[in-house]
Amino acid sequence: MEGRNNEGTWMRLEIESLSSNEEFARVTIAVFMSRMNPTLEEVNDVKTAVSEAVTNCVIHGYGNEKGTVYIEAETESDQLTVKIRDEGKGIEDIKRAMEPMYTTDMSGERSGMGFSFMEAFMDEVLVESEPGKGTTVTMRKRIGGCSYG
Ligand code: ATP
Ligand code: MG
Repeated sequence: MEGRNNEGTWMRLEIESLSSNEEFARVTIAVFMSRMNPTLEEVNDVKTAVSEAVTNCVIHGYGNEKGTVYIEAETESDQLTVKIRDEGKGIEDIKRAMEPMYTTDMSGERSGMGFSFMEAFMDEVLVESEPGKGTTVTMRKRIGGCSYG
């Protein structure tokens, strides 16, 4: 669903926690932010950050079990805010989880760089979490785009 007012606009998307659904989030956020006149680099930055956050919900939050990943995006002049939320297992120590190369994954497939990428590609990353309840990642980025006037 999409809304619009004088202050900006917003969207909400709910997807089943499947890795194969992650592409929905990436493509949707790209289309949503296109009205902000972003550069290709800005679109790619946001897509990467969203992809990392959604993957975390699917893999860590829900541990590959069934669940819903909630994605909200909002624009306010040149500010883009994206919220990615799960109702999964939550994070015990957020500060530690956000350290580069920290991972709880034992398979050796993960490098523990997801949060570092989000922080590198977005201006602001806020993580709120409660064990047993879930995790919300709020990310903000100023979209400069090209200005012709
Ligand atoms: P990578 O992202 O490089 O594949 P990673 O997912 O382990 O590896 P981060 O994305 O930085 O690395 O996350 C660090 C750790 O924080 C994870 O290993 C996990 O323990 C925890 N974590 C992150 N997101 C969530 C979430 N939504 N729910 C529960 N735990 C999470
Ligand atoms: Mg990750």
